[in-house]
Amino acid sequence: MGEVITYDVIIVGAGPAGCTCALALKNANLKVALFDKNSFPRDKVCGDAIPSRAIKTLNNISPQFGEAFKSFKEKYVTTKTRMFYGKRLMNFEWVGEAYTCARIDFDNFLFSLVRNNTSTDVYQNTSMGDVVMEENGAYIKDKKNGSVYKAKMIVGADGAHSVVAKQLANRTLDRKHHVGSVRAYYSNVSNTLNNTTDIYLNKKFFPSYLWVFPLHDNTANVGFGMLSSEIAKRKLNIKKTFHEFIAETPELAERFKDATQLGELEGFGLPLGSKRVQVSGDKFILIGDAASLIDPTSGQGIGNAMLSAKLAADQIGRCFKENNFSAGFIQQYDKKLYKEIGVEMKLKSFVQRIVPKMPFLIDWYYWVTRSATLKKLLQNKWY
Ligand SMILES: Cc1cc2nc3c(=O)[nH]c(=O)nc-3n(C[C@H](O)[C@H](O)[C@H](O)COP(=O)(O)OP(=O)(O)OC[C@H]3O[C@@H](n4cnc5c(N)ncnc54)[C@H](O)[C@@H]3O)c2cc1C
Repeated sequence: MGEVITYDVIIVGAGPAGCTCALALKNANLKVALFDKNSFPRDKVCGDAIPSRAIKTLNNISPQFGEAFKSFKEKYVTTKTRMFYGKRLMNFEWVGEAYTCARIDFDNFLFSLVRNNTSTDVYQNTSMGDVVMEENGAYIKDKKNGSVYKAKMIVGADGAHSVVAKQLANRTLDRKHHVGSVRAYYSNVSNTLNNTTDIYLNKKFFPSYLWVFPLHDNTANVGFGMLSSEIAKRKLNIKKTFHEFIAETPELAERFKDATQLGELEGFGLPLGSKRVQVSGDKFILIGDAASLIDPTSGQGIGNAMLSAKLAADQIGRCFKENNFSAGFIQQYDKKLYKEIGVEMKLKSFVQRIVPKMPFLIDWYYWVTRSATLKKLLQNKWY
């Protein structure tokens, strides 16, 4: 082994999870390195909906970061969601602060916060590979040039295909708890309302939905996702299914009549939080998609990625304070994480499993939410 570069903490992946962790470690007085295989600004296949939990977490880390997001121009406020199901339309007003923002912009915003406000050493275009655990620390290797880095703690923030989770937590793909998804940008989709995101359900394509999320200049992020186990069972070509969904849903076919697809229809996976997985161990913590934390009903993962990053940073602080990097001690992170999101994940997984089997529940929900009082009650509970 040649020269080994040593840090206190190594974060692999500079998406929302990795950047948030670096931001939350700002005042920890630790030597932190943040690695990403891409260089920023970089795109990430996503629906571009930024949930309120993401904004809350940013504010919670520092009001200064919350203020920076307030003046960030590339975001669009979301106040309402329309859900279309056949002839039925259900409207939901968002209680929390939420936005749409192209991920190329949002992720670059977080990345710039790290660069401008922390002493983190940032490595771009650096794909990390083999991780080896030794008594005196964790070692990780740059896949391209073989450079070796060592730290007391490794944070796996490297997304849905996490190399850290594969190696340290034996993570494998579980299709029953994973969604296959595609998205493309479109211009000129008709009946697009400002500040309103749209969800379409179509019985033929259960269990799945298609979204139309408006962005700037008359453009929209349009995407479709389905449980990977269903995709495999039905032998679907998901890109083809996306176009079929639009063509075979009359309201959508009408809206896309004069729309133009901008760029490729791109695919990516969503590891759902419907199954609890190992999220930490001796000298390591997993956060965001690397910890399978995506909301099983909405497919949103940015909020949980950022929340888990903040909780991981808190735990890292405790580990250094006590000089204890053992799996048993780090499990406090698991406990705090599932205390925050455990019940919500269980409920949402239940809804995700039950609705496709009992689509009449959507009708029931439709009728229940015609009562303003009941609707308000449900909205305050869930959004
Ligand atoms: C089609 C689709 C639609 C979605 N829509 C939404 C939505 O609207 N709202 C929402 O909240 N969530 C949505 N999600 C989920 C959301 O994209 C993720 O939950 C979120 O990106 C998780 O953030 P992360 O930082 O954990 O991972 P990522 O954003 O994936 O970031 C991981 C980073 O790690 C880097 N990396 C990977 N491997 C390595 C390596 N070996 N070495 C170094 N760096 C590495 C990558 O380059 C990347 O920058 C969607 C997902 C998909 C696929």
